[in-house]
Amino acid sequence: MTFARSAIRCTRLVRPSFLSSGRRYASTYNADIAGLSEEQAEFRNAISEFAQRELAPRAAEIDRTNTFPVDVWEKLGHMGLLGVTVSPSYGGLGLGYFHHTLAMEELSRASGSYLPDLISGKKVGSLAMSEPGSGSDVVSMSLRADKMNGGWRLNGNKFWITNGPSASTLVVYAKTAPERGSKGITAFIIEKDFSGFSTHQKLDKFGMRGSDTCELVFENCEIPDESVLGQVNKGVGVLMSGLDLERLVLSGGPLGLMQASFDYAVEYVHQRKQFGQPVGTFQLMQGKIADMYTKINASRSYVYAVAKACDKGHVSRRDCAGAILYSTDRAIEVAMEGMQCLGGNGYINEYPMGRMLRDARLYAVGAGTQEIRRMLIGREFNEEFKSDL
Ligand SMILES: Cc1cc2nc3c(=O)[nH]c(=O)nc-3n(C[C@H](O)[C@H](O)[C@H](O)COP(=O)(O)OP(=O)(O)OC[C@H]3O[C@@H](n4cnc5c(N)ncnc54)[C@H](O)[C@@H]3O)c2cc1C
Repeated sequence: MTFARSAIRCTRLVRPSFLSSGRRYASTYNADIAGLSEEQAEFRNAISEFAQRELAPRAAEIDRTNTFPVDVWEKLGHMGLLGVTVSPSYGGLGLGYFHHTLAMEELSRASGSYLPDLISGKKVGSLAMSEPGSGSDVVSMSLRADKMNGGWRLNGNKFWITNGPSASTLVVYAKTAPERGSKGITAFIIEKDFSGFSTHQKLDKFGMRGSDTCELVFENCEIPDESVLGQVNKGVGVLMSGLDLERLVLSGGPLGLMQASFDYAVEYVHQRKQFGQPVGTFQLMQGKIADMYTKINASRSYVYAVAKACDKGHVSRRDCAGAILYSTDRAIEVAMEGMQCLGGNGYINEYPMGRMLRDARLYAVGAGTQEIRRMLIGREFNEEFKSDL
């Protein structure tokens, strides 16, 4: 089942509805304000229909049971959604980063608990850089790969690795020339059945509980020379090459979570009555709704503008970092305000607001922290003004 654009009817205001905790739940996403073309709106609608049908009804259960939904992952792969920017000859959709960000947003709106980033749902992959002792300073990693006859021997650990427990193929970074620091790192492709490779039990996370995370262990893990990805000692180039676009595409996550938080809260405050009237008609609550609504739209405008620029070949490091920095902070705020709109029910796990806050919080550390993003943006400006210093 591949995504078929022509078969999907375009509606300007998307209003899929479903029941969650006994309440009707619709989206206020407005394709006109978002600036979507007809084709982009069709693409978004197709994903929205799939995500609301397949993911949304299971989001609470996945969060509660901390279970990775392998069947859904496969369906995402069949639709080509795990390879939006990949050429159709490799099973992808051959679209741009704007579409990729839209897909991420819609999947996250249905359930923040997924971080789709591989081309096919048949094989689940992982990207392993971080270690217990090296997170933000990732090039200080200590996993070693020593050259041996016909291949390499790996010893050490990786930590917090998304999809680690279920991945069949992993891209793993290791030191091949430790004395050369960041210039002695190589990227390797590891298959899960390589001897000497194992995974520890999955981590019990605060949020994103449908996406499994664990530690990887390498004990005299012997791998062939063909496992080298790119060139020996040039791993930092591979590592850095995708980071800007990764930050951009991940920004769709906070957007989707914000929209989901807002949609739920705005409906709730118009149903819930106190003092004889819907709580949403009290001015203090109107203020919350207005702030949430404008934060979503401002974030979306920035993220979409950066995505469109990237598709035109203008990949700006400061703006890719800015897109995820800004949308993440706003998503956490919107989820907090959404929780407050529900009063006591916001604090009850039968309602989705707590999950949305917990899922939004991941974006403040996953794929680099907010502090590192601020540092990157600041550093770009320092670089620009260097000659004046
Ligand atoms: C759910 C989850 C999934 C993840 N998935 C993956 C994955 O698939 N693959 C992978 O490789 N990694 C993954 N990570 C790891 C993630 O990239 C790191 O957690 C992140 O880069 C931060 O590293 P750290 O946790 O070691 O924090 P630290 O680097 O120890 O930072 C601690 C605090 O100090 C701040 N800090 C650090 N350095 C500076 C500085 N120079 N200036 C200002 N502040 C600073 C940080 O911002 C943070 O607030 C995942 C993490 C989580 C939580």
